Amino acid sequence: MSDSGYNDLIYHVGHKIECVCRGGNEDRPENIAIECVTCNKVLLDYNDQKSTDMPEKEEKKSVLVLVEFNNTAPFVQRFTSKEKITMDKLVEYFESIEDMNWDKDGITIIDDISEVNLE
Ligand SMILES: [Zn+2]
Repeated sequence: MSDSGYNDLIYHVGHKIECVCRGGNEDRPENIAIECVTCNKVLLDYNDQKSTDMPEKEEKKSVLVLVEFNNTAPFVQRFTSKEKITMDKLVEYFESIEDMNWDKDGITIIDDISEVNLE
């Protein structure tokens, strides 16, 4: 520990020290602090890195889906989501916006697009 840490803490020797948490929920508080109850002073405190950093780091997932409706020309749609995109989710989505008939209509996840130059 650094000298300043040593000097910060020596002042509180013999004081009542408590570990307290704030925010979040019981299982996952947002902030945990070591406090001197005698002086009512925060000695050390840490934020939950997981809850503050995770949403930004999470990359958006995206897939291309070939959509073939019985009554229209086939087309490709790009789907993006923070979570993994599964066929079940796509089926759920299409059934929520259209009256799907899976005997005639179809969706295919396109894993990769290759490109050919005909010049
Ligand atoms: Zn103290």
